[in-house]
Amino acid sequence: MLRAEVLQPLIADAGRASVREALRETIAQLRSELAASPDGEHSPEGLIAGIESRVRERFARRKSTRTRRVINATGVVLHTNLGRAPLGRRSLAAINEVAAGYCNLEFDLTTGNRGRRGAGLEAMLRELFGCEAATVVNNCAAAVLVAVNTLAEGGEVIVSRGELIEIGGAFRLPDVIAKSGARLREVGTTNRTRLADYDNAITAETRAILRAHPSNYRIIGFTERPALEELSGLARSRNLPLIEDLGSGALVDLRETGIRDEPTVGESLKAGASVVAFSGDKLLGGPQAGLLLGDERFIRRIERNPLGRALRVDKLIYAALEATIEEYAAGRAETEIPVQAMLRARGKEIALRVKRFLRRAQSVGGNVSLRSIDGASAVGGGSAPGAELPTRLIVVEADGLSASEIERRLRLADTPVIARILDDRVVLDLRTVGPEDEAPMIDSIATLNRSTAARREIKREITEHTK
Ligand SMILES: *Cc1c(COP(=O)(O)O)cnc(C)c1O
Repeated sequence: MLRAEVLQPLIADAGRASVREALRETIAQLRSELAASPDGEHSPEGLIAGIESRVRERFARRKSTRTRRVINATGVVLHTNLGRAPLGRRSLAAINEVAAGYCNLEFDLTTGNRGRRGAGLEAMLRELFGCEAATVVNNCAAAVLVAVNTLAEGGEVIVSRGELIEIGGAFRLPDVIAKSGARLREVGTTNRTRLADYDNAITAETRAILRAHPSNYRIIGFTERPALEELSGLARSRNLPLIEDLGSGALVDLRETGIRDEPTVGESLKAGASVVAFSGDKLLGGPQAGLLLGDERFIRRIERNPLGRALRVDKLIYAALEATIEEYAAGRAETEIPVQAMLRARGKEIALRVKRFLRRAQSVGGNVSLRSIDGASAVGGGSAPGAELPTRLIVVEADGLSASEIERRLRLADTPVIARILDDRVVLDLRTVGPEDEAPMIDSIATLNRSTAARREIKREITEHTK
């Protein structure tokens, strides 16, 4: 079997040993299947073709579980399952530059001595926000964990009952606080928490006040919570740090895109939060990271914490983050940061792209039909749950194929296209599809008819073999 012509590319690709192992397992599996139904008739050629195709399928499946590029046609801009923010070109160039060789990660080029990791990024953030200090860890969850552990371990941290958030499954604020070694002191109620509730809860045990942004839900109606200025005033008067878990980390105002209630990092710092934590790969549009900005004395303590060392990021993240922050500093974020550009794309612009796309895709033909309808995109990533971004959707239909079958085939195409099913129809949203992804997407759509034909062809070959 190892000499079979059709397996040679696989052997070159995956190695002889792993193909041999796959063959052994496939043959064993086939043996037990045959033993279970001894009455069927099988030709040797048919069995061999079956083994070959099973082995090839096995490797194809294995490959699809590896990290690979997909086209996000869901219209969900910060799709956590699809890797959140795509990076801008300057971030990619910066990664490329430092990844291939050595860099000054912890080396001061002016003195020739050891330097502090992240000093360059900190200087940029200080300049942009006027904050005293900044540091970076692996993600926002890590940022909150290390901040609470550093500032409140062994004591109490006060949190409003309306802000005990869960973000994307594994991040649950009460659990993170428990792991940090601090005790959670809940105050107020689900819908209303007043400044006096915080004030009354402060004791000799209190180490910090924590404010969390309700990123992925809203409490509406009869609600109340103190303004951040009031809370920071209280914290300062009682000599306590105020930690804010901001989550999304918008650097610029997004109101014009229809995203409201996303406080910016600058606003939080101005309102007097001692430490602000936010993600690098949500609205900021950079790589996965957790940024901590704020008072120098707290940030330096966080940096000295062994947990901070365990959760530190590598040179690629610094390179990408610095390039991302620079786009904001230079006022180019709206066009140069993909997440920002996607969020700002207007319904009309998308409709125009859809028109051109439908013209380009005419050649697909066959049993496949494409048309467009009005719809909405989503911000995603647990950000701005109420915001709806008007868009124009492409409806994909194919004679003889159900919506779920079309969705499956697009997902399994050579260039996987991740679509959305809306009212039992498959829809594609160009908001999250780059112009360079349009041609491969048309190819993937074309497999909806090509693969039916190819499948029939394969079936005919196999029946002839087994005759
Ligand atoms: C998203 C989010 C987190 C978790 O951030 P990661 O970077 O995914 O770890 C924590 N807190 C809030 C408020 C969030 O929105």
